[in-house]
Amino acid sequence: MLQGYERAPRTVLVAGGAGFLGSHLADELLAQGCRVICLDNFLTGSMENIAPLLNHPAFSFVKHDVCDPVFLPEKLDAIYNLACAASPPNYQADPIHTMMTSVIGTRNLLALAETNSARLLQASTSEVYGDPEQHPQREDYWGHVNCTGPRACYDEGKRAAEALCFDFLRLSRVDVRIARIFNTYGPRMQPDDGRIVSNLIVQALQGRPMTIYGSGAQTRSFCYVTDLVGGLMALMAIDDNPGQPVNMGNPQEFSICELAEQVRRAIPQAGDIIHRPLPTDDPRRRRPDITKAQALLGWTPKVSLAQGLEATIDWFTRTLPRASSPLARNEQGPDALICK
Ligand code: NAD
Ligand code: UDP
Repeated sequence: MLQGYERAPRTVLVAGGAGFLGSHLADELLAQGCRVICLDNFLTGSMENIAPLLNHPAFSFVKHDVCDPVFLPEKLDAIYNLACAASPPNYQADPIHTMMTSVIGTRNLLALAETNSARLLQASTSEVYGDPEQHPQREDYWGHVNCTGPRACYDEGKRAAEALCFDFLRLSRVDVRIARIFNTYGPRMQPDDGRIVSNLIVQALQGRPMTIYGSGAQTRSFCYVTDLVGGLMALMAIDDNPGQPVNMGNPQEFSICELAEQVRRAIPQAGDIIHRPLPTDDPRRRRPDITKAQALLGWTPKVSLAQGLEATIDWFTRTLPRASSPLARNEQGPDALICK
């Protein structure tokens, strides 16, 4: 059956480790005494995210695309698979590669985990629930996904990755854990990443109009990055495999208009709000039921939206290039309506 596991794994691979979540996870693993190998193709991650770690004696970096088989000389104890663009404009830019990253990439990392008898944690997503008809979302909900729409490369790719993971688990080939992550934000999101929190903060700091897609009545539940990283590590650490996916997110739900107002209040130079077209298949409501994570791991997010936004705004204020031109690459197109 599945191999035993040490509570503090010695050597950990973080695939997608140069990204937003992956780089924070690498920080925390190093702080806990692990040896960390970060693997990334820099599709949406950056060298800046891991630059402070490059001289750490327990850190190493491998530039690699998980769609290609992964071979590493070192014996691994644990693998976190975070490799995949997470922002809708980014994952839709090359949808076939996104799908292959989730399916072939996860297959390659499962093979690596099996060879090493390593535990694997798969970063899945609330997007497996699609535009949910059940609210809040519990893990036993099968979801409402458009399998032919523009989000399908991500949603269906992550669903297929979960299916692969569960087949490896049922066959006792790899001890797999699945975290279904809900919207998470914080320092090190790319300023032109296109997701709501980074877009609003960067636009407000630059005094540009803040873009709300559709009416802004759609909701999300925002988890601060340190809370999420703690949850991922707790899920990796428990000895009994949960045998089921585990939702991870902050159950406090906000409309996009409420979020924009909070950001606007926090940034004095913030401009007007403008509305732009709602992307196809944009989920209308999203909130995790985290009963399972609370019961299994004793895990509950602690950072409020106000606290998390303050820390994120502070980070963007310090790191945004002063004389930069507007970062509008991943913002929705024209037809804007200005709202005072
Ligand atoms: P991110 O885009 O900042 O990080 C993804 C990282 O994966 C980047 O460094 C990117 O370069 C790398 N990557 C992408 N494709 C790759 C490939 N084929 N081979 C190697 N590396 C590749 O996004 P994030 O927010 O840090 O998300 C990390 C993971 O968590 C993703 O798998 C994402 O689906 C999942 N997730 C995140 C959120 C969130 O709100 N942040 C929500 C749900 C799920
Ligand atoms: N959104 C928005 N303005 C933006 C970026 C996003 O109104 O500049 C909306 C988007 O349409 C969605 C919500 O904010 O309803 C969250 O979008 P994000 O891309 O952050 O994540 P996801 O849709 O994957 O939850």
